[in-house]
Amino acid sequence: MTHVPNLTTLVLNADMQPLSWGPLSVWHWQDALVAVLQDRVFQVSTYEHEVHSVTRSFKIPSVVALKRYQKRKRVSFTRYHVFLRDGFRCQYCGERSETSELTFDHVVPRSKGGLTNWTNVVTSCQRDNLLKADKSLHESGLKLRRQPYQPSPHQLDECAKRLQYKDVLHESWLDYLYWDSTLEE
Ligand SMILES: [Zn+2]
Repeated sequence: MTHVPNLTTLVLNADMQPLSWGPLSVWHWQDALVAVLQDRVFQVSTYEHEVHSVTRSFKIPSVVALKRYQKRKRVSFTRYHVFLRDGFRCQYCGERSETSELTFDHVVPRSKGGLTNWTNVVTSCQRDNLLKADKSLHESGLKLRRQPYQPSPHQLDECAKRLQYKDVLHESWLDYLYWDSTLEE
């Protein structure tokens, strides 16, 4: 096959919504093309780029959709998902930062039996994390902007949609990504 740029393909569920928003469901184009050729997904739109085998040429899929609806799984408890739930903002001072500047804080400290789970871990800036240290919320004088919760897949989708990353998206993806938000504007 000829050389093509490092393209990715947006993957939609059978209901034409992204399989996930945070992070956005994308495959490497080669995986997407294989899935199209094996008839596992519908090809929804393509890039201009083509690849050639000995006998045929194929357009590179830019958007594909699963043929069978894939039920959404529970949101896994990961660093990224906690940051996403909290909008990459410190839950004490509300400041938004780069991932590298952020850390986690146990609302009830581990030394006081606090668990590492959705309802006790929040995004925190380094400063507030140091300030809070091993103190309870009351002792620290800090206030939580919002009570931490376990997000459903749908809630996490909403969090991801609020983050702006339009500039990195191919135009053929926008029809499937910003339909709701365009209607609201
Ligand atoms: Zn802070």
